[in-house]
Amino acid sequence: MQATAAELSVLKCPRCHVDMSSVTIGAEAMRECERCAGLWVEAGAFEKICADREQQSAVLGTAVPAPAQQTASGVGAGQIQYAPCPQCGQLMNRINFARCSGVIVDFCKGHGTWFDRDELREIVEFIRGGGLETSRQKEKIEIESERENLRIDQIVASKRADSLGLNFSDDDRAGGLSAARGLLKFLID
Ligand SMILES: [Zn+2]
Ligand SMILES: [Zn+2]
Repeated sequence: MQATAAELSVLKCPRCHVDMSSVTIGAEAMRECERCAGLWVEAGAFEKICADREQQSAVLGTAVPAPAQQTASGVGAGQIQYAPCPQCGQLMNRINFARCSGVIVDFCKGHGTWFDRDELREIVEFIRGGGLETSRQKEKIEIESERENLRIDQIVASKRADSLGLNFSDDDRAGGLSAARGLLKFLID
């Protein structure tokens, strides 16, 4: 289903289903719902926000006070609501931005990202605080800790062998671990 240019020019808020208005934040054009203060940011524009400090400053400069009717509109309030992509109408995926930011955004792979009120600002603050770097490191640490656990298993096994007066060279430990276990089992039984 291909949207025509005319359909693209007016997009409806995926939450309130009213027409959104175009806003320019920094150098990037995006669409904003005046009712819920959500933002629709197309894929290319969001990449620039992630990469560009000036663009980030522009986002931080737009912090909007919460509209009073926020809760009355039934949006948010801890409710999980899948929203349709304003461009293709498919329900968007909900993702934890950068896996550990704690900001859950709605994401259409082909079109862009929907930010409920304040979410874009929260993400920019996360990026500014070094969040993307932390996220990458966390991923690395998770992989390393799995390796480490494996290593500890091996050390524990060989320590037990040592305490029983069985001395293995490093080569033995690396190559003959299962043999050592078999021997231990024999001695303990
Ligand atoms: Zn809205
Ligand atoms: Zn879409």
